[in-house]
Amino acid sequence: MTSSSRPGVYQALNSGHDDADGPLRPRTFDEFVGQRRVVTNLSTWIEAARKRGGVLDHVLLSGPPGLGKTTLAHLVAGALESTLKVTSGPALERPGDLVGLLTGLEQGDVLFVDEIHRLSRTVEEYLYAAMEDRAVDVVIDQGPAARSVRLTLAPFTLIGATTREGLLSHPFRARFGVVEKLVPYPAADIRTVLLRSAERLGCALDGEAAAVVAKRSRGVPRIANRLLRRLRDVADLHNAGTVDATVVQDGLAMLGIDELGLEETDRRLLAVLARLGGGPAGLKTLAVAVGEEEDTIEQVYEPHLIRLGFLKKTPRGRELTEEGRARLELGSSDSEAPGLFAG
Ligand code: ADP
Repeated sequence: MTSSSRPGVYQALNSGHDDADGPLRPRTFDEFVGQRRVVTNLSTWIEAARKRGGVLDHVLLSGPPGLGKTTLAHLVAGALESTLKVTSGPALERPGDLVGLLTGLEQGDVLFVDEIHRLSRTVEEYLYAAMEDRAVDVVIDQGPAARSVRLTLAPFTLIGATTREGLLSHPFRARFGVVEKLVPYPAADIRTVLLRSAERLGCALDGEAAAVVAKRSRGVPRIANRLLRRLRDVADLHNAGTVDATVVQDGLAMLGIDELGLEETDRRLLAVLARLGGGPAGLKTLAVAVGEEEDTIEQVYEPHLIRLGFLKKTPRGRELTEEGRARLELGSSDSEAPGLFAG
């Protein structure tokens, strides 16, 4: 996950995995809310592999951060009754890092590589040879004595997760037999996630309040869960005990999150575009102007603004729409968020 020197509230809410994600993670496919097509497909391929007594094909899960890719990897391994080994693209710097991992795999193990688009080209090439041939070539000795030795690998399943499927090379992508895309959740699904999470956290959450929070979670379960934790804090501090409409209103105002789920960085992005005459503006310009990384803007902020119809992408750059301009004028009285999570 990209990080930024000036994280906005939203990024703090949807930054990479942290310890807090674990306890709320669904433990079975039944507990995994929504994304029915993806869940049905995966369950089918898993059952078929089990029936055959074979190994599940390699799986690529793509989609924005916080939508459940890691959770699904755990669920797939669980359903296969396999051991899950977890690593990430940036952690595998050299082919040597990968060889150790691959040769350590046992029959039927699942290897989860998060942020798989961040593998270096050399490691990527090494990995896709291993995916196809179930073998790796290693060079032993140096100089004239150097020779290549082929090590056979135990049959395994690779699950790759990516927020940038387009960055994977064609031959690499082609080696995944199962490719599933996760999309943002409808508010009704997020409401279900919130109610289940509240139960797990032992926190009383009003049904109506859950619906309000769901609408402001941008269709992302991780954001919903983190908002819930902060709202529980507010409820505890106010001695209210229950996360109800008042707690939600106060809490979200503290966090600077408006009724559409927009936070300070979203508003800054719209404001920068307005100052540039509505655009078109390049991603780089926007990133510098709001102090976020280009990746973060592209994967985290922009999709929600585009879905709301406030911003559009054209071949010449990003442009502010009429709706975006109207929204900005409406919200121009909003004060800066105090940044409850920042820093
Ligand atoms: P990703 O790997 O796509 O960034 P994660 O799998 O880490 O996302 O999910 C982030 C958090 O959101 C986890 O704590 C998980 O509990 C929750 N979550 C994600 N998808 C679902 C879902 N479909 N149902 C319930 N909780 C979910």
